Amino acid sequence: MITSRLAPTPSGQLHLGNALAFGAAWLSARNVGGRVLLRIEDLDRGRARHEIAQRQREELQWLGLDWDAETPAQSTRQYSTEGVPTYRCTCNRKTRLAGACACRDAGLTAGAVRFRCPPGEVCFGDRARGPQVLAPGDDPVLVSADGDPAYPLAVVLDDARDGVTEVVRGADLLDATPAQIRLHEALSLPVPTYLHVPLLLGPDGRKLSKSHGSTELGALRAAGWSPDDVWTTLLPLLGLPAGGLRDARLEPSRVPCGPFVIDANAVVQP
Ligand SMILES: [Zn+2]
Repeated sequence: MITSRLAPTPSGQLHLGNALAFGAAWLSARNVGGRVLLRIEDLDRGRARHEIAQRQREELQWLGLDWDAETPAQSTRQYSTEGVPTYRCTCNRKTRLAGACACRDAGLTAGAVRFRCPPGEVCFGDRARGPQVLAPGDDPVLVSADGDPAYPLAVVLDDARDGVTEVVRGADLLDATPAQIRLHEALSLPVPTYLHVPLLLGPDGRKLSKSHGSTELGALRAAGWSPDDVWTTLLPLLGLPAGGLRDARLEPSRVPCGPFVIDANAVVQP
């Protein structure tokens, strides 16, 4: 049975890009009688807010997206790198990007804990995009220098212990997938299947965010949008006919690659 998850980050408002990924995650499971989990990804203690998480639950329900169970929020869980090949690194992002980090073999005892990702390309199948052969890129940080678990570690451990079999998310995370697969393998954890949905961009070519406020679900609701208006806008971006969510049948191989530009001014009128 497919188990999919809705994993909002409660540090900002949900926008159409989030709704697109959550709708695809929900359809991929529900269309085949699978389970849907809700997981609040609140690792960023400085920015995550309980009241935002509650509002996001309400907005998901408003969209017609239900879930069978809510997993413990990430802020309440324990994360260990036991069994993972790691090394300490004291470099900043600029040094890493310049390829000037020599920490991998330096035997440091302080600094951020990075995954010692095995070299070589990773082959995997994306249910929307087909076969992928991608290099893992930079070794992800698993634990910050302050000792806080980082997202690349949390997502792998949580997906495994929550029994998630399918990860559906925005295409901006496609590049992070090879290292995540290697981390699943390093921990002898089952590797989920992946489905990356098109990224939605503002007219400025950037990923939808706070600066495209009128694409936030709250703003759309205030402007009179119904859930059906949202799905009529979004379902064609998943390769489906415009209409309501309940009648939609996701065909992963027909999901376009995107990205799509969303005109934040044009979407205010339903
Ligand atoms: Zn380094």
